[in-house]
Amino acid sequence: MPISLTRNFSIIAHIDHGKTTLSDRLLESTKTISDREKQDQLLDAMDLERERGITIKAHPVTMNYKAKDGKTYKLNLLDTPGHVDFSYEVSRSLAACEGALLLVDASQGVEAQTVANLNLAMQQNLHVIPVINKIDLPSADLDKCKRQLEDILQLPADEAVPASAKMGIGITDILEAIIRLVPPPKDPHDGYLRASVFDSVFDPYRGVVSYVRVMGGTIARGLKIRMMSTGLDYEVKEVGVFKPKMVATEKLHPGDVGYLIANVKSTADVKIGDTVTEMRHPAPTPLPGFKEIHPLVFSGIYPVSSEDFEALKMAVGKLQINDAAFTFMAESSAALGFGFRCGFLGLLHMEIVQERLRREFNMDVISTYPSVIYEVTKTDGEEMLVDNPCFLPPTQMIAEIREPMVKIFLMVPNEYIGDMMQLVMDKRGSVDHTETLDDNRVMLHCVLPLNEILVDFNDKLKSITRGYGSMDYEHAGYQASDLVKMDMLIAGEPVDAFACIVHRSKAESRGRALAGKLKEVIPQQLFVVAIQAAIGGKVIARESISALRKDVTAKCYGGDITRKRKLLEKQKEGKKRMKAVGRVNIPQEAFIEVLKTG
Ligand code: GDP
Repeated sequence: MPISLTRNFSIIAHIDHGKTTLSDRLLESTKTISDREKQDQLLDAMDLERERGITIKAHPVTMNYKAKDGKTYKLNLLDTPGHVDFSYEVSRSLAACEGALLLVDASQGVEAQTVANLNLAMQQNLHVIPVINKIDLPSADLDKCKRQLEDILQLPADEAVPASAKMGIGITDILEAIIRLVPPPKDPHDGYLRASVFDSVFDPYRGVVSYVRVMGGTIARGLKIRMMSTGLDYEVKEVGVFKPKMVATEKLHPGDVGYLIANVKSTADVKIGDTVTEMRHPAPTPLPGFKEIHPLVFSGIYPVSSEDFEALKMAVGKLQINDAAFTFMAESSAALGFGFRCGFLGLLHMEIVQERLRREFNMDVISTYPSVIYEVTKTDGEEMLVDNPCFLPPTQMIAEIREPMVKIFLMVPNEYIGDMMQLVMDKRGSVDHTETLDDNRVMLHCVLPLNEILVDFNDKLKSITRGYGSMDYEHAGYQASDLVKMDMLIAGEPVDAFACIVHRSKAESRGRALAGKLKEVIPQQLFVVAIQAAIGGKVIARESISALRKDVTAKCYGGDITRKRKLLEKQKEGKKRMKAVGRVNIPQEAFIEVLKTG
């Protein structure tokens, strides 16, 4: 098939605006899948992805479409991960396309989550076709959506395709618009193989499967290839396309989207955004846009019972094979024993990994308060990166600390603007400018420290706006800030798991909140327990838990021995879920509760 008949596109949408439904419709109407296969495909998807309505892996699919002009086109739909944590992956998937559909719910209008992805698509010079979905709904307002597309997103509203993915309305119009408006791929004809890797997965039977878009040259079985960022060479064992199941083909040609399997051991060896070239005749330069991805959020993960350390080690190792963006390193904590310092792309990624540890590996884990990476310049000029509050040098050795910032897009109904601005201020942010979206809503463009949105920002947004607000963000570099390490001392002992880096102006209130929470969750002991928050030895908040003399068997009058034994057993059981810190036993729940203290 000539390259002029190929179209590569992806779909950008706010959650629930109908991306999955539309993708299924496109597959059905091009007869790429039958109804029975549709069922299977749904069952194949990771439970977590479905529950949360997000896509973590960018599954591509190739469809053949016979257009009204009588020609049969090859359409490659590249699904993009639906969350900002994976924005690098999104940018690589978009870079493999020439166009994108921007899906907007006709009853909801433009939402924040589409803005960052649309920006990425614009940066890649993609042709963006707006699709206004759910026009079957009585509350659909086509004109309002069109106005928003022009005013907020500067998209040509006259190109917008009205559709209902659910009722199957406008599907052919969408396919025809793709053919008409998305440019075909260009073959550079420069004699070099260049293919970009936009994702990879680990298949237990076949090893690492890399998802590629060929820019120039061809890839076939037996070809010796080189990954340009690592310089590692491999032999191609198989190439193929997604229909949507993997189907082996002879070759992948310029403009094609498909997969390649080579003798690669771990997904960590296949870098997303890397360029595949021919070993014997390598391209002089790689494709643009490659970046090493580095985790942005760190947290310690510890087994609840220390005997499970080996099992946890196996589990994190297995997870990493399939998720190159997840990193881990053994570490130990005085409070929690042996565990791992884990790195994630963002908070959602962290939650996904923790949830998978629980579900797929049956691991009972405690995780420490998430931390971002701080850049520190010491007074002796040394530069260091700190991802764990315990490793922050003493204040007198720090010349400057810089923290990662994010640019946030907030869409909120008018009546909540005041409360939202207050929230942004409370989180040390600033509102750059506001934009009126329609009669009811505005978009606030804000800049905040990443650290401040880690734990509860989205929850707060939802509760302030009664669920009507939405947000999206992109990274915005580092900024110097007056940050300090705060220790929590229990009965005079610093508990490393509770240490955190906070802004000086917030240290006292945060110290109080933490101490108060600890007072609630740590059971009374046989002695008075002091709980203190301190900065560099200076106590800034304190609480104390009064002493208790508890004899669980006292009520048994010494007579009923079985009852007595049962009570003792129960008490022992209770102890197992405690971590002994110095003289104090801290229940597992305390660690979890404290992490929730925003
Ligand atoms: P995604 O999160 O963007 O993948 O959205 P889904 O495709 O899962 O759709 C979210 C909800 O909207 C589901 O309940 C769909 O049935 C519904 N939906 C999708 N398209 C339409 C449509 O055209 N009309 C109506 N009324 N509902 C739709």
